[in-house]
Parts: sequence; structure tokens; C-alpha cells
Amino acid sequence: MLGLMQDWPLRLHRLIDHAARHHGARPIVSRSVEGPVHRTDYAAIHRRSLALAQRLAREGVKPGDRVATMAWNTWRHIEAWYGITGAGAIYHTLNPRLFPDQIAWILNHAESRLMFCDLSFLKLLEGLAPKLPHILRFIVLTGPETMPETSLPGAVDYESWLAEADGDFEWVAGEENAAAGLCYTSGTTGEPKGVLYSHRSNVIHALACNAPDMLGLSATDRVMPVVPMFHANGWCLPFIAPLSGASLVLPGPKLDGESLQSLMQAEGVTFTAAVPTVWLGLLQYLEASSAPLSTLKRVVIGGSACPRALTAAFERRGVHVVHAWGMTETSPIGTICGVKPEVAGRDAEGTLDLQETQGFPPFTVDMRIVGDDGAEKPWDGTTFGNLQVRGPTVTRGYFKAERDALTPDGWFETGDVATIDPAGYMHITDRTKDVIKSGGEWISSIELENLAMGHPDVAEAAVVAARHPKWDERPLLVVVPKAGREVSRDSLLAHLAPQVAKWWLPDDVVVVAEIPHTATGKILKTKLREQFAGYFGVP
Ligand code: ADP
Repeated sequence: MLGLMQDWPLRLHRLIDHAARHHGARPIVSRSVEGPVHRTDYAAIHRRSLALAQRLAREGVKPGDRVATMAWNTWRHIEAWYGITGAGAIYHTLNPRLFPDQIAWILNHAESRLMFCDLSFLKLLEGLAPKLPHILRFIVLTGPETMPETSLPGAVDYESWLAEADGDFEWVAGEENAAAGLCYTSGTTGEPKGVLYSHRSNVIHALACNAPDMLGLSATDRVMPVVPMFHANGWCLPFIAPLSGASLVLPGPKLDGESLQSLMQAEGVTFTAAVPTVWLGLLQYLEASSAPLSTLKRVVIGGSACPRALTAAFERRGVHVVHAWGMTETSPIGTICGVKPEVAGRDAEGTLDLQETQGFPPFTVDMRIVGDDGAEKPWDGTTFGNLQVRGPTVTRGYFKAERDALTPDGWFETGDVATIDPAGYMHITDRTKDVIKSGGEWISSIELENLAMGHPDVAEAAVVAARHPKWDERPLLVVVPKAGREVSRDSLLAHLAPQVAKWWLPDDVVVVAEIPHTATGKILKTKLREQFAGYFGVP
């Protein structure tokens, strides 16, 4: 017997319909790519998204077609996501920081038909256009006054193109399991892989991740998603904010400390989210300038492990750090470090210990740790295991791949190594390929990096495995000193020694001017490993 409730497919347009009707006047503020700050609201975004869907339909876009975006976080990018999915098509985000050949490979693999792009990327795309036979038209996210000459095929400015539709349109109907978004992992290990979200997976991910112990946004929040929409589904904030009625403050192309601080302060931002590198930049600016950050209450940090020193620096300023773990493949939020009763009421240091963990999953994710034999490992807080997840917001297989990406019993192998403690808090110790295997024992590179970042003169730290004649691999610490400071091997090792087992201490320290980063702002371990693998003289 079926239930007698209404059949109401969980399509993405529900979110913007809801925001427009019940939170219509809530401000959506953006730093535009052209420069000035732009203001709109959910009601206007809703109208323009409908017009965008109508205009796409007139362009010949059909349900299931891929429509690419290469754009910063602005109101126009939000309109593009809702308009594309409202036309039944699939938003396909491109990370402009990838190598141009990789961008071309991804666009051709996805066979995207149209592309919305920001002015910032015209040069890059003009160079690539001859290699992109599927893209029939480039819609440049600007108005007629600021539209430059360009050789891009079918190029039009967004505002003139959009003005050709009046918005008298019904969202294209479809089932909730239809594909809605396509986002490729950055492919640091092999070709990029396309993760294909559905309307349903995005909607329930947004619902589950907004529970009070998760992100818990409300209509009184002013949310600044610093994490770009082209990185891992924009951490789903473009869906969670309209669902909760929160106001959005979008930073556009300017992600340096000064630009972020000034926009947050001017617009009263209460909640923000990005990878650790962005926050290191902001905190360095705050330290140097004494500029205020008085409205910010919470910051979500994820994408790579959040160093304890970074958490402590925010907490000292009265900003609560919410550490989160996830992957493109998990929509992307997999766990969030909320506070369960078992760990409530800790002192400041105890709370920092807790915040080093990545927390526990929302309702839509289940997790476990297993050994290489597939047997489950205990939740004792010390036993390492391969982290596996499953659930309706976790990928089953990659776009155009022949096989599912799951274990025979239906779990997704994350490629991360973790512990889980008796209260159910998961702690990532490493990526499988970054863990240091010394004499048959494992050393966590993340743990050592975290501790090194606590040294007062260190701006950034990475620990990599270097081949060793006796122990197979030994840890090597690579550090960048803070501007104007010096840091020595001895002071660093003396700083680490009381905090780790003797055999975990790095065998040496290399001071460098810069550590390479991936397209999503993480430390590029592959490059560092290549560079330093032979450091101890083993070829
Ligand atoms: P990419 O590999 O393209 O950067 P993802 O953003 O999907 O793609 O990266 C997911 C990976 O990032 C995870 O598997 C994990 O290794 C790492 N990661 C994400 N969040 C955290 C975190 N809070 N702590 C440690 N590692 C993290």
C-alpha cells in the first residue's frame, strides 16, 4: 500500500521557489567581477532564473544536456545553477585553476553544449575554444556596456541574452533522481572523474547538512561561501542558504585577506566556509592590519585538515570553527564536527582536541573504517583504517564509467585513512598515498603538519615520505616561514619533540619560500614527494 502524501519530486527549483516566496527580500550581495558591489534578493534571482531556463530552452537545451559554468561566486552564477537545472539540464562546473589541457579534456568528456563564463576567463577560453567542438555558444557573465571584443564562438553578453526572455515559464518537470550537476575531481591521480549529482541528492544533502549539529543556518544568518562554486559542488551552500532563507554575500573573484575582511565587515557576515589556505591568508592580514572581524560567528574549514593553530586563532577572535570533511564524491559534506553530549563542556584545550577531528556524519551518510582485508576496525580512537562511506548523497559510479565505484558490499572507498573514537568522532590521519610507512608502522603526515603549524614562525608546513635505507620511509618536514621571520631545524624539532613519539620526529627539515598547491588550494603532495623522495640518498 502506498502512502497518501503528495507526490512532490525533490527538484532543485523547490529551493529557490521557497526562498523567493518565504524569504524573497533577503539580500544577495556580490562583489562583481567588474568591480562594484551588486545587490539583489531571492525574489529577483528567482525571476531571472526562470527567464534563464526559458532562454536556454529557446537555445535548444534539452533535459540531460550539460551546460558548463566557469565563474566566481556571484549572483549570476547562482542564477545559472537554478536556471540550468530548471530547464532540466545539468550544471557542469569547471575549475579555472586546472591546466588548460585538463579543462579541455573535461569539457569534451562531458560534451557540454553551452558555457557561462566570467570576464576573468575569456583569454583562457579563447585559447581553448578551437579544441572544444561541443560548445556552440559562450555566454559571458556581464552586461552590454562591459562586454569586450572576443573571438569565442557565438559569444553574447549575459544581460542582453537574458533580456530576450520574459520569465513567463514553468520549470521543466522531471523526476527527482534525474541528473542535476556534474563536477570533476581534480584528478591528481589519473584522469579527472565526473561526479554526477541528482536533484534529489542535492536537495536531501542540503536538508541533512543544515541540521543543528551540522551547519545549522537560519534566516538570520548572512552567509559568505568563499569556497568557489567550482570546487566540490560549492559545498552545497548555494542550496542550503535558500533552503534556510539565509542571506548570501558572494566574494566574486577577490579571495585575498583584505578583500574578504572588508566585505565581511561591511555586510555583517555571520557564517563563512573555505579551505585552510584561504583562512591563513585572512588571519595573516588581520594580524598585520588590526582590521576588525566583529560580525563573524562561525567558520567552516575543510577540504584539507584544519591545523590546530588556525582553529585557535579564530577561537581567540570569538569565531567558532566548524571542521568538516568531505569529497566531491560525497556531495561534498561527509562529516561535520558538531558537539555531542559525550564531549560537551570541555575546556578550551579539550575543545581544540575535538576540533582537530572531522566529526560525525549527517543523516544521509554512513561511515566505517576497515583494514586492507575489508574487516571492520574498532572505534577506539587509535586504530587506523581505510575510511568507507555510503548513502544517498554518496556517488555510486562516475560519469560515463562502465563500472560502479563501490566495494562488493556497496561502500565507497574514500582513499582516506582515519580513526573513529568511541563517541563516533572520525579523525582523518592521512590520504592512503600520503601516509608515511616507517619500519612497518604508520606515521600520520597530517598530525605532524598540524603540530608544525603551531610553531610561531611557521606559515605553512608539509610532511612527506622520503625513501630511507633502513626504515623504508621516513618523514621529512618542509616549511615556509612567516613573512619576515626565520625558522631553524633545531627549533622546529625541539617544538615537535615533546608532542610526538620519538620515532615520529621528522629526520630533517627543509625551509622553502613556497609550497605548491593544487587547483583547489590544497598542498600538492605529489609534487613535493617527487621532489624530496630521494632526500635521504636512496634513489
Ligand atoms: P580534490 O582531490 O579534487 O581536491 P576533493 O575536494 O573531493 O577533491 O578532495 C577530497 C579529499 O580532501 C578527501 O578525500 C580528503 O583526503 C581531503 N579532505 C577533505 N576535507 C578534509 C579534512 N577536513 N581533513 C583532512 N582531509 C580532508
